[in-house]
Amino acid sequence: MTHLTKSRISLTNLSENFEEVDPGLTNQEAIEEAYRCLYCYDAPCITACPTGIDIPTFIKKIASGNLKGSAKTIMTENAVGASCARVCPTEELCEGACVLNHSTEPIMIGNLQRYATDWAIKNEQVLFKPEKKNGKSVAVIGGGPAGLSAARELGLLGYDVTIFESEEEAGGLNSYGIVSFRLPQTISFWEVEQVERLDVDIRTNTTVGKDITVDEILDNYDIVILAVGMSKVPNLGISGENLEGVYDAIEFVKDTKTKPLSDKFLGKNVVVIGAGNTAIDGATCSVRLGAENVKILYRRTVDEMTAYDFEYEFAKQDGVEFRWLTTPTKIIGDEHGRVTGIECIKMALGEPGEDGRRRPVPIEGSEFTIKVDAVIKAIGQSRYIDLIDQFGLKHHDGVVTVDSESFQTSNEKVFACGDVIFGKGQGEAMVVSAAQQGKEVAYAVHKMLFKNVSEPA
Ligand code: SF4
Repeated sequence: MTHLTKSRISLTNLSENFEEVDPGLTNQEAIEEAYRCLYCYDAPCITACPTGIDIPTFIKKIASGNLKGSAKTIMTENAVGASCARVCPTEELCEGACVLNHSTEPIMIGNLQRYATDWAIKNEQVLFKPEKKNGKSVAVIGGGPAGLSAARELGLLGYDVTIFESEEEAGGLNSYGIVSFRLPQTISFWEVEQVERLDVDIRTNTTVGKDITVDEILDNYDIVILAVGMSKVPNLGISGENLEGVYDAIEFVKDTKTKPLSDKFLGKNVVVIGAGNTAIDGATCSVRLGAENVKILYRRTVDEMTAYDFEYEFAKQDGVEFRWLTTPTKIIGDEHGRVTGIECIKMALGEPGEDGRRRPVPIEGSEFTIKVDAVIKAIGQSRYIDLIDQFGLKHHDGVVTVDSESFQTSNEKVFACGDVIFGKGQGEAMVVSAAQQGKEVAYAVHKMLFKNVSEPA
């Protein structure tokens, strides 16, 4: 994978910096790689994929030139399989389990998955057809990976499905929250289109609780699936957060995917607070917008950071600096209300807290100030507690309580999946896990409404 280095940043045409960094495999590379696969019996890569994609089969189809069949094998198990090819931590999942790790190099499963799905996107393939309706209706709240996956599966099972999506387009994190140079919007939009082709009604720019009431949803659909994901980055709880030049990382990344790129970061010093994948995205976007120096501040150490290893490497290659065991105490501004600096304090790791992770504690007298022009907050995301309360669902600080097998909430008509049930202190949820939950919720709904049916094989 090639990365943008400081010297290669275009200061005249910023959009070049946001082009996809990895060009993908050439035809020849893909065929050669596909031939390396041993097509193992009981292939461990399948078990290691949270969505259980039949990896040897899709690879074999690449080798035999059946690219549509290959893409269909992938997308049948994972409705967001084209995005996952780019964003999954494959070295921890399928590639980490490949038997060839013991002898040579694992098969480049992610890249082959991308090769097949890219072919389908480029050739405008429609992989699934609507099924005969079964007379039942489902409202899916949220069109991100979990919601899309549930909707796709229910569409294939003959349900009348409506997705309510507050953004202009569906796709959630894949459309708006992952930087374009890793995941361009076209990929996510194609996945959305595959779902729409199943006669799934996607009502965008529609916020449940505002544009349509919760009661209307509950009254008009047989089943509701809550898959709203997460909301904005919460406040740090320090002074100066309202100054000009302080950004929410989620909004910041979204702007780079939806608005003309601005040159306001050119030559600037930027600090990103947090060390998850979104923090890395905020930092690498800042580099590509021309920032002179980008630092990530994290109150714990490299061992506790939640960003994937490949994201961490990516940021280092972009020249991002990491300041471990450092927490901000105050954002400083000038008389015009603009950020000029950030006051920090050094931390040490103390006893483990409730979540089992060692708690960072400030070291008295270690305060220091960094001169900055912009601060990007990336300390996790808040939850849609108000909406969850409107549905009257049991939850723990915004984490909806569900039955671990059926994903049913405290209201038997309402199911939930994705980030809205992802517990605190577990780092960041994977897109691929959300996709799998969406499938499982769809099967649970089907089982409840049509007793005695088993999951699709
Ligand atoms: Fe191919 Fe590796 Fe999976 Fe075996 S484990 S089927 S070699 S990708």
